Amino acid sequence: MEMKLPEKVKRIIKTIEDAGYEAYAVGGCVRDSILGREPDDWDITTSASPHQVKALFRRTVDTGIRHGTVTVMVDREGFEVTTYRIDGEYEDGRHPKEVVFTKELEEDLRRRDFTVNAMAYNDRRGLVDVFGGMEDIGKRLIRCVGSPQERFGEDALRLMRAVRFSAQLGYAIEGKTAAAMKSLAGNLGKISAERIRTELVKLLVSPHPDYLRICYETGITAVVLPEFDRCMETAQNNPHHCYTVGEHILHSLRYVREDKVLRLAMLLHDIGKPETKTTDGEGTDHFHGHGPAGERMAERILRRLKFDNDTIDTVGKLVKYHDYDVEPAPRCVRRAIHKTGEDIFPLLFDVKRADIMAQGTYLRAEKEEKLERVKAVYGDIVKAGDCVSLKTLAVSGKDLMEAGMKPGKEMGEMLQKLLEAVLEEPGKNTKEELLKLYEYFLPSFHKIG
Ligand code: ATP
Ligand code: MG
Repeated sequence: MEMKLPEKVKRIIKTIEDAGYEAYAVGGCVRDSILGREPDDWDITTSASPHQVKALFRRTVDTGIRHGTVTVMVDREGFEVTTYRIDGEYEDGRHPKEVVFTKELEEDLRRRDFTVNAMAYNDRRGLVDVFGGMEDIGKRLIRCVGSPQERFGEDALRLMRAVRFSAQLGYAIEGKTAAAMKSLAGNLGKISAERIRTELVKLLVSPHPDYLRICYETGITAVVLPEFDRCMETAQNNPHHCYTVGEHILHSLRYVREDKVLRLAMLLHDIGKPETKTTDGEGTDHFHGHGPAGERMAERILRRLKFDNDTIDTVGKLVKYHDYDVEPAPRCVRRAIHKTGEDIFPLLFDVKRADIMAQGTYLRAEKEEKLERVKAVYGDIVKAGDCVSLKTLAVSGKDLMEAGMKPGKEMGEMLQKLLEAVLEEPGKNTKEELLKLYEYFLPSFHKIG
């Protein structure tokens, strides 16, 4: 079997081989090349020690020298070159607690998580596949290298990696591997939030985000996202819905594009439903206020998983407003843009569409049509450049000061009132008009003051 290695990777392998050692492309890049996917990065594994590798190249970086990894720089591009090793227990995923270097490629492949990730390749020897990676690619299976119980016992993050690769590749998880996952899911409690976050995001932005279902079935979410388990257990007896809250969430994930923020928003959009559920006299379920309640929960969850503030903030707002109903009239849409935020509002179209698609068919066409009308109105507003925030209001605090107003709370309220007038009638957004309005509003302000 022949594989096309990038020139730079060939050069690194040749340099190491010319010095009398072995070197191979290994892991994800081999898997992806076989599958005709563009590898993210090219990892190289070698029999040479880190010091021997460093001696062979002009520019190297000690990325993880204790664990055998040296980054070799070719032009401006870095390639991780790692010495064949046998791992002990893992502490953070990339770095096992103790490593033993070895002279055998096979030993290095044995420490890797799944058969599809445990293949190596170079032009001299071709594909090295000692654990049946090609066979499992043929069967479309994620299978542990060796004993699944042992492998998951060494590093519980591998449970989430199994689901993640399954979702990325559309593969099933082999029976014994899946059984071991069920029995060891509790160990995920020992894994750091950062490592869990990384795998969760990769799963969510994959072609099969709904494979999160496997995380529920194996007990992974019970540990890392118990709020989702509550959703899986919450029925929705309501004409709009044909699924439990959890199943609806899983479906909604598929209807939004592969974007981190949008997929997180769908994951969490109804997370507030279990705790806001009420059932009326007719037996119909309601979830009043689940948006704002969900925002608070989403923020807590994302903080716990160590997401950055920007992501927490954006996802929180999308959760809060996902169910916010907007009429397709220009003044209503301008108000909605102002209320939700100029950056958030356009994202709500994606969120709302996915939400609708994952609901029952009752009124679906009407809901979609209304959303399209709001979208058209939004397009007109953007095209016209209508003012929807203080940023583009034709008067500023400075203008009001020049007109005689003192800075402070009243001035803030005045600007807000002027903005509201402009949201009603964008034509009023001129300095002249707004200063007239200012004079008109002023007496009522003095009464308050
Ligand atoms: P991608 O980079 O597309 O996310 P990948 O397969 O390259 O996928 P990485 O996390 O970059 O995954 O790891 C590179 C290789 O290192 C894997 O293919 C696997 O062989 C090995 N590996 C990584 N993490 C682990 C782990 N926790 N346990 C065992 N082997 C691992
Ligand atoms: Mg990789």
